Amino acid sequence: MAGRLQKVLIANRGEIALRIQRACREMGIPSVAVHSTADAEAMHVRLADESVCIGPPAARDSYLNAAAILSAAIITGADAIHPGYGFLSENAAFADMVEAHGITFIGPTPEHIRMMGDKIAAKAAMASLGVPLVPGSDGEVADVEEARRVAARIGYPVLVKAAAGGGGRGMKVAGDAAGLEEAFRVARAEARAAFGSEAVYVEKYLDRPRHVELQVLADGEGGVVHFGERDCSLQRRHQKLLEEAGCPALSAAERARLGATVTAALARLGYRNAGTLEFLYQDGQFAFIEMNTRLQVEHPVTELVCGVDLVREQIRLAAGERLGYAQQDIGFSGHAIECRITAEDPESFLPTPGLVTAYHAPGGFGVRVDSALYAGYRVPPFYDSLVAKLIVHAPTRAQAIARMERSLAEFAIVGIRTTLPLHQRIVADEAFRAGEYDIHWLERLVARGGSAGPEVVP
Ligand code: ADP
Repeated sequence: MAGRLQKVLIANRGEIALRIQRACREMGIPSVAVHSTADAEAMHVRLADESVCIGPPAARDSYLNAAAILSAAIITGADAIHPGYGFLSENAAFADMVEAHGITFIGPTPEHIRMMGDKIAAKAAMASLGVPLVPGSDGEVADVEEARRVAARIGYPVLVKAAAGGGGRGMKVAGDAAGLEEAFRVARAEARAAFGSEAVYVEKYLDRPRHVELQVLADGEGGVVHFGERDCSLQRRHQKLLEEAGCPALSAAERARLGATVTAALARLGYRNAGTLEFLYQDGQFAFIEMNTRLQVEHPVTELVCGVDLVREQIRLAAGERLGYAQQDIGFSGHAIECRITAEDPESFLPTPGLVTAYHAPGGFGVRVDSALYAGYRVPPFYDSLVAKLIVHAPTRAQAIARMERSLAEFAIVGIRTTLPLHQRIVADEAFRAGEYDIHWLERLVARGGSAGPEVVP
């Protein structure tokens, strides 16, 4: 049923709550902010049309408190909920509850969230739709003996991964048969503790892949388009720090080929709203690892190269509209880079919450800052440490790097330590400038405190 959304409740905080609020405002749709008691002075509350306190600081009592969020939506007369990323964004039970109350969930169906949240089910679904996978077990691996048989077939090193995994947790590498028992035991224990499910599977551990992901939008009626790829190889502990669009190692032909496979698969699935398919890319081959059924932190790099407001599109599609354009209408212009600035020590990565005494964001041509910081704001210790996303766009990758360098130098966040100096080191590095990096590169840069040096197999 196509119709305008009347009021959107934004079930999130920080920069992404602001990002969604801005899209709503430009569309003329009132929005409702929710916040914990710790976030009463947060920017997403200060700028809100309307706001509701949903609980005490701990996320489980506020931003993960489905009943409080639903009550806030009902009390304020919101007819839609945007979950942002993290928190309840990939919680199928929450999406079910939202829809059961006659409220529109701005995202995919609960069934698709559930399917992709189970990585074993996601891989099986993608394989049946013709999407290439990382070699590994056929589904769950019940015990070490079975893991050994799989590893003998695909070859070491292997990775034991939690079916319910996320945020890089519940993943352990085994270099040989001797190490497999330990990896299996630890991955299982981590999975049980972090996700409440000890189901694990085994994958070939690729030694030097890039993380390349494809952004899609779909209308649930078979209309599916992709907006190209992002390279998110620069990671620490499997967490992304810097992303670019496009991938420096991918040709337009390879992008088109991957895009055709993925869009055909999602059309058959009847997928709706935004999604990202994550692949490892090595030796010219793509291998699917997982799908995220939500908006990603790094979505702005895609917005800049494609000239599309992805949140606006999400809202439009959730209201029941069709895409209204086809793949050939989507163009790619220039290059974009995003640095995730966190409130962490740039060397130890310990969190550095506290008072921001002065704040000056960079600006100028081709510069975008998505942040909820301001001078006088106290970064609370309770949540994710992301405090700003600095995104630049330029005609070429070299120009984008130059623009990022000068923007990082302009950025002043005073009072707390941040990862700004680490980003300056990354963009000054020769290997990064040459586009020659894989998923292990940044760990080496951090470990050596200097240049990342030559390739080594971990
Ligand atoms: P999560 O959901 O926890 O983020 P993913 O499956 O998306 O887990 O993997 C996160 C990161 O871990 C990937 O971007 C990649 O760097 C690394 N990784 C995952 N699977 C493999 C693999 N088979 N071989 C090598 N690295 C991997």
